[in-house]
Amino acid sequence: MTIKKRIVIWYTIWMSFLVIVTLVILLSGSGMLVRREAIADLEEAVNDAAEDIWIRNGRVITDDVSFFDDGAYISIWDKSGMLEGRFPEDAPSAEFQNGVIQNPQGESGAWYYLDIEIGNGIFVRGVARSYDVGLFVSSMQILIFILLPVLVLLAALGGYYIVRRSFKPAEKVIRTAEEIADSDDLSKRIALGDGSDEIHQMATAFDNMLERIEAAFEKEKQFTSDASHELRTPIAVILAESEYAGGHIDDCKKMEEAFSVISKQAAKMSNLVSELLMLARSDKGTLHLHPESFDLGELGEMVVSTLEEKASCKNILLSVKAAPGVVVTADQGMIARVMINFVSNAITYGRDGGWVILRIAERNGFAVIEAEDNGIGIDKTHIERIWDRFYQVDPSRSDNSSGAGLGLSIAKEIIIAHGGHVSVESIIGQGSTFRAELPMG
Ligand code: ADP
Repeated sequence: MTIKKRIVIWYTIWMSFLVIVTLVILLSGSGMLVRREAIADLEEAVNDAAEDIWIRNGRVITDDVSFFDDGAYISIWDKSGMLEGRFPEDAPSAEFQNGVIQNPQGESGAWYYLDIEIGNGIFVRGVARSYDVGLFVSSMQILIFILLPVLVLLAALGGYYIVRRSFKPAEKVIRTAEEIADSDDLSKRIALGDGSDEIHQMATAFDNMLERIEAAFEKEKQFTSDASHELRTPIAVILAESEYAGGHIDDCKKMEEAFSVISKQAAKMSNLVSELLMLARSDKGTLHLHPESFDLGELGEMVVSTLEEKASCKNILLSVKAAPGVVVTADQGMIARVMINFVSNAITYGRDGGWVILRIAERNGFAVIEAEDNGIGIDKTHIERIWDRFYQVDPSRSDNSSGAGLGLSIAKEIIIAHGGHVSVESIIGQGSTFRAELPMG
């Protein structure tokens, strides 16, 4: 059963129940009130009459008595019958009972009787009709049995209409979800438009979620296609070289050349696969860090010494400027990897005959690693995407031995895993500064 039907049925049943209970209480309450009122009037009339009747010398004197007072008929009786007064013709006869309210039923309806003995077997009898209550109750019954079902029906229909209208956007949410499931098209949106009710809020949240899922899905697709693309080239080279070597089995020199190419490409593939593995681990949150305390400046010196040869090939002056005693607790191998990436990039994209400085400093409670060059720089349009996986401003300029555009994204993941953050400043044609900041202590 749909929520719409459940809501309407629920409140219709409750509403009917409440109205019936209220009416029953009202009816019995007001019926009782009317009855009490009638009896009180009758008692007053009979008591007034009894006070005004005198028995003198065996004669009943009724000079001041009113025989019809406020709906009550007053009559005076002794054993032989009615002596005086008014007694309705259609009222039934009843035994005399002193001070007792009787409720005899006549052919024309119900009555109230009250008798008061004033002495010598003489009674004052008050008689009043009780038809008012019956009329009230029966008219209310008509209301309950005819009007109530109509009102409940109207309320149910009105309620169903409002609930249906309110739930209409929910149907759009369901339809969109079904369409996405059927077509695998994550670009679809519910787009309910303006509105502040819960369903609009839900639709907006759903659209935002779709936006993020689509972006993540696209990123994933792009990543897979980039990875396959990067792996395809070395595989093709390996295949071609293997074939070439196979055709020159007698020529040692050519064979050696072919194997050297194969080995280089295999190393490239191995490097790429290990980088992919590292990113996958980072995504899964299973990147295992082995933290230890070490001096960043000393690590910087080591990194620079391993890259000296690469720098000298381009006549780049490579130097370290390290503040003393910048000690961090981190995974040394991984931090070295970040430094190597920064400095190696600075050399690759540096100017021939230029300079590269690796700076280690402490700033605002953070250990700062900075690699500055006076190389080609990065255009503003690329700077946002520079940390993305496989992103290269100009793939043809990348270092042939490493570059697949994963270095910076891995560096970023490493620094984030250590609780730090990365940033870059660059001016095209003037140079760049890549920075990683690590929390200290
Ligand atoms: P790769 O160097 O393998 O291409 P990276 O992720 O290390 O991959 O770098 C991504 C891209 O960022 C590079 O292709 C290059 O375009 C740009 N880049 C990185 N460092 C610098 C730098 N110091 N100067 C100019 N461009 C840089």
